[in-house]
Amino acid sequence: MTSAATPTTATQTSKPRIPWKSLDLVNTLFLVGTAVVALVGVPIHLATHGFSWPIMGLFAFYLAATGLSITGGYHRLFSHQAFQAMAPVRAFFLIFGAAACQNSALKWASDHRAHHLNVDKEGDPYNIRRGFFYAHIGWVMLKESRPLKNVQDLLKDPLVRWQNRFYTVLAIGVGGVIPLLFGWWVGDAWGSFLLVGVARTVIVHHSTFLINSLCHFMGRQPYSLKDSSRDSAVVALLTYGEGYHNFHHQFQYDYRNGIRWYHWDPTKWLIKTLALCGWTSRLRTAQDAHIFTARIEIQKTLAQKNLEQRPREFRDAMEQKLHLAHEALVSARIKWERVKTDYRAAKRSMDAKRRSLAATLEGELLAARAHFLHAQTSWSMLIDHTNA
Ligand SMILES: [Zn+2]
Ligand SMILES: [Zn+2]
Repeated sequence: MTSAATPTTATQTSKPRIPWKSLDLVNTLFLVGTAVVALVGVPIHLATHGFSWPIMGLFAFYLAATGLSITGGYHRLFSHQAFQAMAPVRAFFLIFGAAACQNSALKWASDHRAHHLNVDKEGDPYNIRRGFFYAHIGWVMLKESRPLKNVQDLLKDPLVRWQNRFYTVLAIGVGGVIPLLFGWWVGDAWGSFLLVGVARTVIVHHSTFLINSLCHFMGRQPYSLKDSSRDSAVVALLTYGEGYHNFHHQFQYDYRNGIRWYHWDPTKWLIKTLALCGWTSRLRTAQDAHIFTARIEIQKTLAQKNLEQRPREFRDAMEQKLHLAHEALVSARIKWERVKTDYRAAKRSMDAKRRSLAATLEGELLAARAHFLHAQTSWSMLIDHTNA
């Protein structure tokens, strides 16, 4: 079944010149310096001082804690409010998010909301139309003042205001000084600083940057063709589950990015696990019916596009079949959803009368599901046929 657009080149438009005079020297030196130290200093130190299990343990913890604080905290919680979190969880995300050295949550969320609002256009802070390098890291290297007009809701949270005020102290203290002190305690201060402080920062930086660059450059577009965002399971592996970015741009309020249980999305698993402990709540999800409709509409659009290249007779015959199969599929889905809702409502209030209604609906539900799956198989075969 074809459910995606052929990847297109998102950088086909002409790239404006980078205004070198606006280079942010602090950011540039930090990004380049940490990368050089991670690539050169860490291997030399490991070769000369050997390997330490306690430091590797802290490295693994910091990698997960800072990475997930960006994806779960800065992104899905503070930027999109896809769920609510208790104060200790918000504080953890803010403290370890600061240690990721990607700005305060307030500024990060402001940039990210501007990205969603203006994606691929002027006003998108990491606009992929300005090139892969610009979207990945170039935009961080430029001095650009962006007013914080779109985060009034976050300013009401005292923890967010506190982190914004003490961001630099937290970034240096939690990101660098704690790893250094831990290393001193276990007998290799510089080893811990280089690995847990510097190399971990570089890895989490580029993991986040890939979401702005690769997720708008490579992959499939099963839910929307409106912008350059793309879904990629491979990129999800590198970005704590954020690789399902086409879904995310279409349903940005959903706390999940990978919607299937088998989609690699550790951020979603963390949020769900915290919800089971009662520490996060009001997890928002897009309705299955809306997700289904978005996917089917894209398949239909692409099939119609493919048919434009085919001989007229074939096209006319297939267009008619496509139309009928689409109608059958949508109506089977609507019926299945309706029976499912009735069945669940009947099951919730199980008196004797309702029990017999639930038994009847159970049969109807199975029939409606079978009818829908049959319509979906016919639809997929037809889509494959038009794309063949
Ligand atoms: Zn995006
Ligand atoms: Zn987002």
